[in-house]
Amino acid sequence: MSTSDWLLIGILAFVAIDFLIGTLLNYLNEKSNQQPLSEQVSQIYDLTGYNKSLEYGTTKYKFGLFTSVVSTIVILLAIVLGWFAWLDASLREVIRSDLMVTVSFVGILIVLAAITGLPTSYYATFVIEEKFGFNKTTKKLFIADNIKQTLLSLALGLPLIGLIAWIYQELNSLFWLVGWLLISVFSLFMFIFGTRIFLPLFNKLKPLPAGELRDEVEAYCQSQGFPLSKLWEMDASKRSTKLNAFFSGMGKVKIIGLYDTLIQKLTTKEVVAVLAHEVGHYKRKHVYTMFLFSNVQTLILFALMGWLLGNPNLARALGSEIPSFHLSLISFVLLFSPLSTILGLIANSFSRFNEYQADQFSIDTYPGAREHLHSALKKLSVESLKDLNPHPMYVKVNYSHPPILERLANLKS
Ligand SMILES: [Zn+2]
Repeated sequence: MSTSDWLLIGILAFVAIDFLIGTLLNYLNEKSNQQPLSEQVSQIYDLTGYNKSLEYGTTKYKFGLFTSVVSTIVILLAIVLGWFAWLDASLREVIRSDLMVTVSFVGILIVLAAITGLPTSYYATFVIEEKFGFNKTTKKLFIADNIKQTLLSLALGLPLIGLIAWIYQELNSLFWLVGWLLISVFSLFMFIFGTRIFLPLFNKLKPLPAGELRDEVEAYCQSQGFPLSKLWEMDASKRSTKLNAFFSGMGKVKIIGLYDTLIQKLTTKEVVAVLAHEVGHYKRKHVYTMFLFSNVQTLILFALMGWLLGNPNLARALGSEIPSFHLSLISFVLLFSPLSTILGLIANSFSRFNEYQADQFSIDTYPGAREHLHSALKKLSVESLKDLNPHPMYVKVNYSHPPILERLANLKS
């Protein structure tokens, strides 16, 4: 067998292994969650609420299994039947420039992914979320969101992939370094401005209205030197009843967003305790460490790409005799999916550690936060029907936040 045959087998094996591990983890997690109402759980749910949370988990588990079976079959078929090579060859018949072939190829994949993903997200939103009382999205908003997201992916993704392909074509041995620098600059831009620029395309942000909450928030922000002008209430309630808050940005361009659902359902002191947690992410410089980590991650990937992408067997494994940047890239991404999983594990454990740190910051800087954050997190879990007994392995792979019971126990200790 030739090298490209071995590569093809490797790619197919990794897609299959990825599916099997994902499915096994989901299964273990589903089993782990099916526990009788314990004393710990009864602090959060009554029996009706708990049963509803289990049913919600099971519904999502079954639907997730169905979608991952379908998508894995489609990917395997695309590889075995040479759909990627076919698309590449068809584009080469009408487009002369290699660069434009790459850009069109990626553009078509983005649009195809958006269209084929529609039924799944429609079902998740209008059947599952609807059934459990979370959904507030109208059909009109759903369509508008999907169109905007796709246009945004095209507007950001195509120039970026075009530039990277150009660097690859022109710089050869320096590709990995310059490509990495380009991605670093782009991700720095996104870390700083991403939320500030793109979130308003999907949500309205407004300052907190005058009143008791604003007074309490103002006093806290002043005590921490956090400008109130960077704090916004977001109209999340137009899509879902679930509650949340977030911190984003760097330096002067920072933003804390509080979902309007959070403000409606929590007491003033609970909201400020959550806000203090978000300020903690800012004060403990979590965005900087996350940015650094993601840079190391892309450096590793680009170093490997610089070493391997030039190998014509990568494109040949997908059925094309013409060396092609985008086909090699697809092979590369599929072959290195185990590495991405490992990097993801590290990023998640890092993020969970940061959550504890932000909780601690809230306790240290807002009197009574221990108790208020505790009750806020409980409400948040009930309002989102969160899983209380996830499987430890599932947590390692998928959780960017600590499981709720562990987080609550940590707040009490
Ligand atoms: Zn957090």
